[in-house]
Amino acid sequence: MAEKLLISGIEVEVQRKKIKNMHLTVRPPDGRVHISVPLYTGNDVIHRFVSGKSNWIQRHADRIRSHPRPSDPEYISGDMLPVWGRLCTLEILYGRTHCVELEGDRLYMTVREASTACQRAGIMTEWYRRQLKAALPELIQKWENIVGVEAGSVRVKNMRTRWGTCNTKEKRLWFNLRLARKLPECLEYVVVHELVHLKEKGHNAVFYGYMDQYLPEWRAIRHGLNHPAGEWDPGIDHGERE
Ligand SMILES: [Zn+2]
Repeated sequence: MAEKLLISGIEVEVQRKKIKNMHLTVRPPDGRVHISVPLYTGNDVIHRFVSGKSNWIQRHADRIRSHPRPSDPEYISGDMLPVWGRLCTLEILYGRTHCVELEGDRLYMTVREASTACQRAGIMTEWYRRQLKAALPELIQKWENIVGVEAGSVRVKNMRTRWGTCNTKEKRLWFNLRLARKLPECLEYVVVHELVHLKEKGHNAVFYGYMDQYLPEWRAIRHGLNHPAGEWDPGIDHGERE
């Protein structure tokens, strides 16, 4: 349970952690204010820090509250859904069969009029899965050649905590279907990461040496992947060996 402080009329959640610097965030969907602080920071220090940032907090809270949360769409016309890192506007059409088509930055979803948000979410999930399955073969082939390994099988699934996983013994790679919501470079980064595990199981110096060699900008891509603007995401990691 986080500690709470009232500072300049703002309720602030305080979390004490083993870190060096204070870190202030305003979080969706309601603009609540959270601060992580080093373990033994005095409340007076926190008060001073947050008071000095009250304008910044107000600005961010206003902005967050005025934007609907993209992770929680109702699947009605006008909802914004991310596709390969671009926010697209959903248009609902009524028909007898289900289908989704992307044209420019418009996503046309044909559904039965009586369909629920949950059913529409399922239709979108399958569509994302197909996007990913269509994009993967070419990327896998490209990077198999560069890294000098061969994947046994490549699969897509919905994962809550990882962007990808790899069973090094079976050479089986799994990719999170939510990657179809992210910039294409994010998928590429996860592909490289998982393929490099076929050379080096652990997250060690050898592993990161390969990453630096093959994809020098991987840290920046990973940061973008794990710190999206206002969207719910699986945890921090990317991939794990089994
Ligand atoms: Zn990994």
